[in-house]
Amino acid sequence: MDSVEERKRKVKLQKLLRLYPPGEHKFTHENDHNPVVLVPCARCHGRGTICEGLVQGGKQAQAIRECPDCGGDQYMAETRRMFANDSESMPVQSYADGWVRCPACRIRFALKDPNAWTGKRHIGCGQKLHVTGHDSTD
Ligand SMILES: [Zn+2]
Ligand SMILES: [Zn+2]
Repeated sequence: MDSVEERKRKVKLQKLLRLYPPGEHKFTHENDHNPVVLVPCARCHGRGTICEGLVQGGKQAQAIRECPDCGGDQYMAETRRMFANDSESMPVQSYADGWVRCPACRIRFALKDPNAWTGKRHIGCGQKLHVTGHDSTD
């Protein structure tokens, strides 16, 4: 794992990690609440390690080892937009308790939950929404 290709990938990844530090993305008007993020390794899902079942002394055992695809780096030396969803903004009414039901994925979430709502997009599905007012029937 020390080929020229491998070194090139590492250098590129280091550069991208400085440009787009994982977990430090911001939802801004400029990026349309769709920031550029590093692509997590598909093999280990960004964990850097994989769990392998193996037989040891006739018994089933689990071994955790460094992911062979990313070499424990967790990310690929590639970037993408956080959300693939680029549809037009959809109107949504909020319930009196400050929750909404996303019209795209039908999931309910609280507008004050920063893990669910960027202020413009539903994080679960990436759909852009604009809150049109309260729904007093619910
Ligand atoms: Zn990996
Ligand atoms: Zn949604």
